[in-house]
Amino acid sequence: MLDRWGKDDEQVLKESIEALKNESEHMKNLVEKLLFLARGDSGRNTLHIEDVNLTEMVSDVMEESAMIDSKHIYKMEGADSEIKTQGDSAMLKQALRIFVQNAAKYSKDGDTITLRAGMTGGAPFYSVQDEGVGIASSEVVHVFERFYRSDSARNSLEGGTGLGLSIAKWIVDAHGGVIEILSRPEFGSRITVKLPAQNQQKHM
Ligand code: ATP
Ligand code: MG
Repeated sequence: MLDRWGKDDEQVLKESIEALKNESEHMKNLVEKLLFLARGDSGRNTLHIEDVNLTEMVSDVMEESAMIDSKHIYKMEGADSEIKTQGDSAMLKQALRIFVQNAAKYSKDGDTITLRAGMTGGAPFYSVQDEGVGIASSEVVHVFERFYRSDSARNSLEGGTGLGLSIAKWIVDAHGGVIEILSRPEFGSRITVKLPAQNQQKHM
């Protein structure tokens, strides 16, 4: 469009530049995700282990999400005391953002997204709960596969690469943790990351 008409038509010029900007943002995103996974595959994603205050991390992500996204209601439910663990705080935060972005993307405007940090059976956890479309049980087994997107996700207007959860899983695996998905179509989903109990943490 730029080549043929853009030089003379201001409207075409504006639209073309907008399309180029969107497309390059999308490609930058995709390349970053692919690089992360490729580095993971070849053992070149190193974790920087430090003390992490999970309560603070979850509350930071909740506040930043509420600021960026006014279409959903964000709230946090926490334990009475602060939850502390060890891990790579930047990566754990990245995983949390992936879950929160999904929660927003796969739910309706006005829906509530609830973040939690707590202890379960002596182990620290954080979780993200939404009231969105949910994931069918036949699809839950596939969501961590690279490039997998459910039928409803592919049919929706929301774009996506299908790599978010693969990255989150890499991060949680690297910490020796597990991800639990509890989901019911039409009711919503709760994704929980359980990290190893402090005394079980090997030196990563
Ligand atoms: P992106 O790589 O841009 O995040 P994506 O969101 O499609 O793309 P993933 O985050 O890996 O990819 O999620 C994989 C699929 O799992 C989604 O396409 C969607 O079908 C399903 N899914 C993930 N989170 C939720 C959720 N909270 N509610 C409903 N479906 C979900
Ligand atoms: Mg996603």
